[in-house]
Amino acid sequence: MAESSIRQAPTSPVGALPGPVANLLAAIHAALDVPLADRPADDRQRADLLTRRAADTKVLLELCLVHGDLTRTAMRLREWTAQNPVLYPTWQARAEQAAAEEQALLDEGEKGTAICRTPGGDQRCPAAHPNDPTPCGGPVVVTVLDRTNAGADGCEHHAARLLASLEGGRVYGLPDAPEGSAIHVFRAADGIRPFPWVPGPRTRDEQLSRAENRRGGEDR
Ligand SMILES: [Zn+2]
Repeated sequence: MAESSIRQAPTSPVGALPGPVANLLAAIHAALDVPLADRPADDRQRADLLTRRAADTKVLLELCLVHGDLTRTAMRLREWTAQNPVLYPTWQARAEQAAAEEQALLDEGEKGTAICRTPGGDQRCPAAHPNDPTPCGGPVVVTVLDRTNAGADGCEHHAARLLASLEGGRVYGLPDAPEGSAIHVFRAADGIRPFPWVPGPRTRDEQLSRAENRRGGEDR
């Protein structure tokens, strides 16, 4: 009985942060979390914001080292951070939105309802993204799986574009596909930029194809 009460006693993991320290660290993290801008034109705005937030953090930490009030420092830092919000469109937000769209597409494909997803009749293969205006490049020959094994069957053209847009995606030939279909798609995806149907200039690593990133972006 003594043993079980020991097991049930509340324990703190070794190295756990005291609450006020964790609270202040979280506030500092939030202050310095200034995401990349989606458009290169906003890079300056992003840099200015980061400089401003870092300066605020430094001032408050200096004061904190004098008066030692962690909780007040965290509160003040959150206020100052809120007064300098991120006002530009972030690359992260666009990537997340695009990833969510991909996921919805893959989920639909899994349920087998993707063939006629678009009211008015999108008769393209299930791997074709609704925002991708391009037609199919042939019959449905491969299946593309994401990390969670959600999948969509597709023609080589749309499968390659989908594969290029997935982190850790894989491609397999369907049983009756011509030999080499999956390899064609794999090789094509290597040279395709993620979400190729999204317009706009592309300069960031995560906006470029895997082949471009291997070359270090020298042809950017
Ligand atoms: Zn297609």
